[in-house]
Amino acid sequence: MTTSMEGERDFGSAATTKRRTGSADLWIVVLSAPRRMKRILYGGLSLGERMATRVLYMEERRGQEPDPCYAREFDALVIDRGPDFVVLDQTLFYAEGGGQPYDTGVLRGGEAESKVLRVMKDKGVIKHHVDRMPMGTAVHGIVDWDRRYKHMRMHTSQHLMSGLVFRIYGARTVGNQIHTDYSRVDFQPANFTPEDLKRIEDETNSVIGSKQEVRIFEEDRVVVHNKIEDRALLDLIPESVRRLRVIQIGSADYCPCGGTHLKNVSEIGRVRVTEKRSKGRETDRIVYELVPP
Ligand SMILES: [Zn+2]
Repeated sequence: MTTSMEGERDFGSAATTKRRTGSADLWIVVLSAPRRMKRILYGGLSLGERMATRVLYMEERRGQEPDPCYAREFDALVIDRGPDFVVLDQTLFYAEGGGQPYDTGVLRGGEAESKVLRVMKDKGVIKHHVDRMPMGTAVHGIVDWDRRYKHMRMHTSQHLMSGLVFRIYGARTVGNQIHTDYSRVDFQPANFTPEDLKRIEDETNSVIGSKQEVRIFEEDRVVVHNKIEDRALLDLIPESVRRLRVIQIGSADYCPCGGTHLKNVSEIGRVRVTEKRSKGRETDRIVYELVPP
């Protein structure tokens, strides 16, 4: 879940993709135009809009193959370059945010291959930082699937745990950070006993065992607001964003999020709580890892 401040940008990017106008060809023309001409063509557009990248994993999950969150390769055009980064017209690389780390991988252009070292959002612009600039304009991107899939398993399990803890204890998720090998979630108000931790672990694993499907779709902000109560902080999302991307785990959880998620919770494996730490008044941090079923 993305209740932390970073979540704001995630929700927004769903809307950003919708605002993108013009064909890829037009974008190339625009971006290779002289600087003075660019200003004319860009007149009135914000920075995020003029560099808008179509985010392919954000597409709605409709049973298509490959599922947007599971697609690993894509073709794209370089629409802008910086000293050590490129901006693409479309991408499958996850840009760090909402507690989920960036994807890594490669961009192939002709004979050359560039390593994608990190992917960050900078004022709405998705920058692929590379070890060397790709040759030419057309590139073929390949996401490091091992790393990404671990993040997906962690992120979906985190939603599950956050939803369960909210339902059982009324504690909201006020921070979270996913890694490939462990994750942490901060809950408030919370003061978990060892028995509580065991219950959270058991109940999370029980839902995993029920093999519930994970749906991803867009919904009106008002509808989301009415459904989630205090499960997530919608106030952090700019008022201008009226449609939100929702992750629904069967009957177990419903939460807006911009992350990449599994199709079915059975892919998580099992959750094992490894640590609880107090993070100040009424705030408890749960650290957990995933183990094979
Ligand atoms: Zn999330």
